[in-house]
Amino acid sequence: MSKKKEKITRRKFVNQAAKGYASVQLASVLPVSLPDTVDEGTTYHGVCYHDCPDSCSWKVTVQDDKVISFGADKENPFTAGKLCGKMETFPRDITYHPDRLLTPLKRVGKKGEGKFEPINWDQAISELGDQLKDVISRHGSESVLSHGYMGTQSLVQKSAMSSRFFARMEASEIAHTICGGAVVPAIFEVNGTSMGVLPEDMQHSRYIILWGTNTKHSNMHQWPYALKAREAGARIIVVDPFVSATAEEADWHIQPLPGTDVALALGMMHVIIKENMVDQEYIDQYTSGFKDLKEHVKSYDPTSVSQICGLPENDIIKLAHEYATTEPSLIRIMVGMEHNYNGGDGTRAVAILPALTGAWRKLGGGLMHLTFEMAGHALNWERLEYHKQMPTQPKRSLNMVQIGQILNNRELNPAIQAIFIFNSNPMATTPNANLTKRGLEREDLLTVVLEHFMTETAKYADYIFPATTQLEHWDIADSWGQVYVNINQPAISPRGEARPNSEFFRLLAKEMDYTEECFQESDKDMVKSAFDSDHPYLEGIDFEYMQNHGWARYKIPEPYLPHAKGNFATTSGKCEFISQQNGLPSYKEVVYSEEEKINFPLQLLTVKKTKGFHNSSHANVRHLRQKEGRPWLDIHPSDAKARNISSGDEVIVYNQRGKVFLEAKVRESIRPGVVCMPHGYWPSLIKGGQASNHLTDDRLTDIGGGAALQDCRVEVEKG
Ligand code: SF4
Repeated sequence: MSKKKEKITRRKFVNQAAKGYASVQLASVLPVSLPDTVDEGTTYHGVCYHDCPDSCSWKVTVQDDKVISFGADKENPFTAGKLCGKMETFPRDITYHPDRLLTPLKRVGKKGEGKFEPINWDQAISELGDQLKDVISRHGSESVLSHGYMGTQSLVQKSAMSSRFFARMEASEIAHTICGGAVVPAIFEVNGTSMGVLPEDMQHSRYIILWGTNTKHSNMHQWPYALKAREAGARIIVVDPFVSATAEEADWHIQPLPGTDVALALGMMHVIIKENMVDQEYIDQYTSGFKDLKEHVKSYDPTSVSQICGLPENDIIKLAHEYATTEPSLIRIMVGMEHNYNGGDGTRAVAILPALTGAWRKLGGGLMHLTFEMAGHALNWERLEYHKQMPTQPKRSLNMVQIGQILNNRELNPAIQAIFIFNSNPMATTPNANLTKRGLEREDLLTVVLEHFMTETAKYADYIFPATTQLEHWDIADSWGQVYVNINQPAISPRGEARPNSEFFRLLAKEMDYTEECFQESDKDMVKSAFDSDHPYLEGIDFEYMQNHGWARYKIPEPYLPHAKGNFATTSGKCEFISQQNGLPSYKEVVYSEEEKINFPLQLLTVKKTKGFHNSSHANVRHLRQKEGRPWLDIHPSDAKARNISSGDEVIVYNQRGKVFLEAKVRESIRPGVVCMPHGYWPSLIKGGQASNHLTDDRLTDIGGGAALQDCRVEVEKG
């Protein structure tokens, strides 16, 4: 392992801290009291594991197997010397947290009761192997469900070993649809790729529409590029149904009714085409379906769109004008727009706009979406995704949005009899949580959880295995929001009996008599093999380079103008306005039952408003929870008045699925008829034991089987 020796003295640390460097105060990192002097330490490279577009690089310094300093890598230009607030104290909050699970546990109480006793690894793996073999012999291997997700997005502990294991078993796998499930296939229908304008090139844009994305909070290292563009004269427009931190800083906040983005985009097209603000040459050369689109958008006139979106007609016209006449114009989308029934078509409609105006021609113009394809081209996925070369493959894919339905469905053939949950906390993060709870309560369901903490989901496990944190294992991280690759070196020994997820699957593979060579591969070798690639993006970047530097930016040809001359990755090679599968995008009204409409008249938005949590991660960390305060509900004065509610009152938000206690915040900034609450709180740590996903529906999006979380109706009353 490469170790860059750095002399770290208290004086040096104090000097750094005084300069505002990103390193965390020693006292907040050390699990024990601060020694008088810190003479030297060994510094390791690492990367944030969260499902976040920024994938920050960090450095961690260790002495006597203890972390003595932790902070952002100041040399990585995108990380720019700063981790977000919740990660600055990561070693103390997660790795050294006193409640961390450090030994395997076996259930002794009822499901969900949270009563466990310690068990040693050998015994636990042996018992689990026996039970698994029994399940497979009685119900078949597809009755086993692999439920891993993005609790870490670093590739080795996320999936590189587990996917081999479940492919070998021929188990069912969970389809990762809850984030990107609609938006990615939708973009691919139009452009054939998610790649577009590079993150750094936003600084060249002069009209930036941040559409359904809270950049300042959820993509904080992108925000400085927006500000840089603004300094050079750009305007920043936010389209979002709620007033996010980003919306508050925008030059113009457009606040459509939730789920109506598709109508707004089609309305913009109506104006742009009618007033001949299109780039006809670009359309003729590089797109298909314009004639039909032109006809189609005639019905999306500003008057009709105004009624659908709840926006003034003039705003729709003005937005279309400004967008089409300012160069370079950029639309930034992430996943916020997809979480409603119209999410797929909304994405397609927005993706068409840059081709209509020829925005792709200029640096900083076009669409900015996800960057994961960079790593897809560059790294050696044949090695990382070894399972795809195995003689057997996962046979059945089940939608994670509907995990509650899946676990309760005895008609499934075969029904699920065993579930492995790792890097995932479905009781907090997937919709219709009470239905999921009923499924996990099944006494005949063998439930295995790999975790750091006793989460809401872990309480339902038969066996819990303690997982290592990012400071304790090898890994490699690609990114879906920027264009750097990182490695993660283990800095300290695993605490207690914690082991990497990869090691758990190696041990269980042995127990299951899976003798294939791929189960012998070490984590370090997996990381190493990823760089065994001759793709030009990795020119000069090999494992040795990564050992010394920790991170590297892909060698991307500059200027990066992927669609200046068409070159779309669709089958036709053109930007396809009409999808072969789904025709032209259109607005569809969401169907609710009459009973729902009468009993639950308000639309609930559940949004990432907290800075201290990452989905449900960190929500068990006391100081972050205290900073966030009690979970709250934004409600418009007219809706509050009708219910005799004032700011500060306790309110009960409820529907046919659940009931949540919140503190009311009466605000003009939320639209009448819409209420909004934060997502991420652990249900057991708030009053009533239910949180946002006890209310949300497991309805699917129009494209891709994504989560239409925001199509959720509720009623509110004073508590
Ligand atoms: S959560 Fe995101 S912003 Fe925060 S440190 Fe991790 S990658 Fe960076």
